[in-house]
Amino acid sequence: MSRVYNFSAGPAMLPEAVLRQAQDELLDWHGAGASIMEMSHRGKEFVSVAADAERDVRELLGVPNNYKVLFLQGGASTQFATIPMNLLRGKANADYILTGAWGKKAISDAKKYCTVNVAASSEDEKFMSIPPFDSWSLQKNAAYVHYTPNETIGGVEFHWVPDTGDVPLVADYSSTILSRPIDVAKFGLIYAGAQKNIGPAGVTLVIVRDDLIGEVLPTTPSVFDYAKQAEADSMLNTPPTYAIYLAGLVFQWVKAQGGLAAMAAINERKATKLYAAIDGSSFYSNPVEKASRSWMNVPFILADPELDKEFLTGATAAGLTTLQGHRSVGGMRASIYNAMPESGVDALVAYMADFEKRKA
Ligand SMILES: *Cc1c(COP(=O)(O)O)cnc(C)c1O
Repeated sequence: MSRVYNFSAGPAMLPEAVLRQAQDELLDWHGAGASIMEMSHRGKEFVSVAADAERDVRELLGVPNNYKVLFLQGGASTQFATIPMNLLRGKANADYILTGAWGKKAISDAKKYCTVNVAASSEDEKFMSIPPFDSWSLQKNAAYVHYTPNETIGGVEFHWVPDTGDVPLVADYSSTILSRPIDVAKFGLIYAGAQKNIGPAGVTLVIVRDDLIGEVLPTTPSVFDYAKQAEADSMLNTPPTYAIYLAGLVFQWVKAQGGLAAMAAINERKATKLYAAIDGSSFYSNPVEKASRSWMNVPFILADPELDKEFLTGATAAGLTTLQGHRSVGGMRASIYNAMPESGVDALVAYMADFEKRKA
């Protein structure tokens, strides 16, 4: 069996070492004679797995003590609604920064709960840039400011954190969490679906400052109430135990790579190589403003879209899979999350150069 370099945007590649450990432990977790996924979430085995996962992600991200770390279900998309349910706290409006397709969905669901002020948008520029901070029209009385640090489809990333003063900053970190160190204290809430950089689909990480929770909209179901989930260690009902277990293995793997500073160095190097290959050719191009290019998702187009199919077929034959761009934008997209080894980027760059030589 040979594993491919899988450039899927999500669910995405997982570190091979993690998959091997999960395989080793699948039938018999630590001598218990049962798989971790067959055990009660209230039992001491799984409780220790969940506690280790929380401890490791706190350590990796340097989460301050006044923040809760939750492992929830429903994906990042569920947070689009649970954020206003929990964070409006008597206010009627929230600010949103729109830089791509995921932000748009977050806005659409938030509108069911509050008045949304789109304080800045790059939609007119087809989401190829990030509106400069001094152009944002933030409201003093907003319940929070929501933005998307990395837009997975457009490949547009903030390489800076907005300073929203006393208004809590809320960030959809789904596709860039753990790619580099962040200062959690600058945020009111951070959330991320797991299937890009954390683990398998099915668990969503939420990190929330504890003074912001406990005052939900009256219609909020218990499982969507951050304070109740925090009180119950994210086990108000049965949590996605196997996904949490795998996320925990990924956290240990990231620690073994040297933590987030080491990941950042590798990720920046991978992205720089790939963008250099794109920019250095007249055959491939990436339309995103240079200062806002994503380290994680690299869309690119071929000068002649007639060659797209052949490019993809050849790539698959070379063990480079899932390079097709999102259905809404076409072209190609290489997602190069933490688990994509640098050798995968090198192989892609070599394939691109070879294809260009043969076809341009
Ligand atoms: C993938 C993604 C989502 C959606 O995640 P689900 O877990 O499928 O709901 C939301 N936001 C961003 C930035 C994403 O990349």
